[in-house]
Amino acid sequence: MMDKIGFIGLGIMGRPMAKNLIKAGYQVVVCDVNQAAVEELRACGAESAATPAETAEKAGTFIITMLPNSPHVRDVTTGENGLVKGIRAGQIVVDMSSISPIASRELNALLKEKGVEMLDAPVSGGQEKAEQGTLAIMVGGDSSAFEQARPILEKMGATVTLVGESGAGQITKLVNQMIVGINISAVAEGMAFAKKAGVDPRKVFEAVRKGLAGSQCLEDKAPRMFDGRYDPGFRINLHIKDLWNVLETSRAINCSVPLSGQVIEMMIALAGDGQECKDHGALGLYYEKLNGISLKRG
Ligand code: NAD
Repeated sequence: MMDKIGFIGLGIMGRPMAKNLIKAGYQVVVCDVNQAAVEELRACGAESAATPAETAEKAGTFIITMLPNSPHVRDVTTGENGLVKGIRAGQIVVDMSSISPIASRELNALLKEKGVEMLDAPVSGGQEKAEQGTLAIMVGGDSSAFEQARPILEKMGATVTLVGESGAGQITKLVNQMIVGINISAVAEGMAFAKKAGVDPRKVFEAVRKGLAGSQCLEDKAPRMFDGRYDPGFRINLHIKDLWNVLETSRAINCSVPLSGQVIEMMIALAGDGQECKDHGALGLYYEKLNGISLKRG
């Protein structure tokens, strides 16, 4: 019989990921503070648990967490009725949330003392890829725990890569978020510059997209800026959270990251302007306001 998997955190991402495990034939025991999300998964055949401790007790080898940020993962792991209250030696925690690598390493060490391995396995790709089971999953942790988890991760992702030891998955995710945030702001800055100079940004886009300036960010975000289409997507407030984790880590390792510092400031300005739930392509709005222009068609 296939392993019974614990799954904690049934939000935008966790819900479709848990459903894909059920579709693949796994028994799944779910837990979330949002009862509506729990009921939705029960209707798909999942069992439920009232607390993380009970989830660990009911689960077989694996417990997956998909939570917003470090404090939530800490709370679910070590809080009152947290995982550690119900966990057994030999179980494996797979944290798929995007959290601070520092917090991730701390939790890994704490669980190791109980004979439990923890993999950090954050993902890239939004709700659509979560639904399709085509996420990019970047993993840090023990290689034999990774080999055991791989068949389960492959039900949720198109690529599953062990990058290094504990925390390496979270570091990789942060690198992804740095490159994406800097790239989108470069697209917005270039397009604003074209507009202010009296040159049609759409024509500039067509002219440069196949050259060295081309990127997936340019392809996805420039048309959004021309349409004023900023529905998420990936929300500004989540990107601020990730860049904040970049800054915390950069201080801990003495690595200067001036561009990430600039991008988080732009995103905080957007959040202050009530745009925090918009797609991160809304960096286009930041440059529009800064320069008194509109990138929209017409
Ligand atoms: P979300 O806010 O939609 O979902 C989080 C879920 O965790 C919610 O259902 C919430 O009720 C639950 N939760 C919070 N605290 C809890 C607790 N103490 N016990 C039990 N449940 C608790 O977030 P999301 O968009 O699903 O993102 C999850 C993670 O994935 C985040 O770290 C995010 O950065 C990352 N991520 C998101 C996307 C995206 O497009 N949304 C893409 C890639 C990665």
